[in-house]
Amino acid sequence: MTLDTPELDPRDGPRDECGVFGAYAPGHDVARLTYFALYALQHRGQESAGIATCDRGGHVMTLRDRGLVNQVFDEQKLRTLGGELAVGHVRYSTTGSDAWENTQPVYRSDRHQLALAHNGNLINAVELHSELREQGVKFQSTSDSEILAALLATHPAENIEDAVADVMHRVHGAYSTVVMTKDRVVAFRDPAGLRPLALGMIGDRYCVASESCAFDIIGATYLRDVLPGEVVTLDERGIRTQVAVEGEREAFCVFEYIYFARPDSRMNGTLLQAARGRMGEILAREAPAPDADLVIAVPDSGNAAARGYARAAGLPQDDGLIKNRYVARTFIQPGQELRKHGLRMKFNPLPEIVGGKSIVVVDDSIVRGNTTRQIVQMLRDAGALEVHMRISAPPIKHPCHYGVDMSTREEMIAHGRSVEDIAAELGCDSLAYLSLGGVYEAIGGSRENHCDACFTGEYPLSGTGEANGKFALESELPLARV
Ligand code: SF4
Repeated sequence: MTLDTPELDPRDGPRDECGVFGAYAPGHDVARLTYFALYALQHRGQESAGIATCDRGGHVMTLRDRGLVNQVFDEQKLRTLGGELAVGHVRYSTTGSDAWENTQPVYRSDRHQLALAHNGNLINAVELHSELREQGVKFQSTSDSEILAALLATHPAENIEDAVADVMHRVHGAYSTVVMTKDRVVAFRDPAGLRPLALGMIGDRYCVASESCAFDIIGATYLRDVLPGEVVTLDERGIRTQVAVEGEREAFCVFEYIYFARPDSRMNGTLLQAARGRMGEILAREAPAPDADLVIAVPDSGNAAARGYARAAGLPQDDGLIKNRYVARTFIQPGQELRKHGLRMKFNPLPEIVGGKSIVVVDDSIVRGNTTRQIVQMLRDAGALEVHMRISAPPIKHPCHYGVDMSTREEMIAHGRSVEDIAAELGCDSLAYLSLGGVYEAIGGSRENHCDACFTGEYPLSGTGEANGKFALESELPLARV
């Protein structure tokens, strides 16, 4: 039994990566703060959730399991997780399988005792893993996050910040990380700043989270983003920061703006809902649909861009597809009789809205195209005269090696096909994508300090290769258990 079967996956887009949270907050119920912060970050990973806390006596407690945040924790479990500082994690497995051993926070007590939560993907994980094993370091899991934890926990440096600064020179790839020792929470971000990490304040204490939406739910204030290469220490003395590693270049994931992050999060000072609306406006300018009667979104992923498109095009907008928001979480398989209704379990078209009309359908991305193809057919069956697909991102043609699970290149509908070929595959009357320039215009940023490799194939970090797949550790090395 899996949480998401291909049939019931709510969309065939990229899978979210992971979400992390950390707080040093004596006087607060840190386990509960972490629970609700993870609840807000649930969209970043639905396979497992975990919280580690530490009390004044330096006792670390970790509770983690497969499932959603509200499946893993209940009142009783939260009450047992007392303490003054905490780190938490929600996971979708971008490296390693979804086995229990790969849930986080990772706990290790080698030279240092620590609990660690990581979002990203190390591109030299296989090499580091074999180096550490040659030194006799044992592993419980096949996730690259335990490599980070092991490098830190076995490090000879007396203080954890020195260990972090040194380890940041050894690991390559994407890592927005929170690590908790007995008296502090240390957050650090890779020198390219590939994955997000935000700094917040709760009362007179500090916290960090993958996205600022986690602060809103716990009453914390968003201060700023943690800088690429920065190490932030939260402890009794307040906050201390240092930039430990200067990167060759910044390369923040542009797809966070388009798809991953929640629309109510702010990244680099930009509210994502507003950025996505602008993507829709620019898309309307770049790819008008002159004879269309109505704009609809593929809910919820296309909502903001559809509103922007309709606004800029001067077209009415309505809900032509209703989404069942809970379907992805069903454990019951549809069976043969119901399977033929396929996508209706996820989206139900409204013939009274779309019938007899030429419609523009806005979504934020297409990866394999299976869902889009079915949506087009469903809308035609509901009486739509013409279906014009508009996508508020460029065609996805290349896999991500920095912590996002895209399909393989061969599975991507845009791989080796022209836009006309893709439109024919999808069965729509026309298809257009937002240009890369349009994306950067919408976010007010530029290519120099972002990653857009899944669109362009230009990977910003040297040494990025095909060998860094999701199961790299499992295929290169036996599952290491002590
Ligand atoms: S390849 Fe795409 S998804 Fe991966 S970090 Fe770069 S922009 Fe983001």
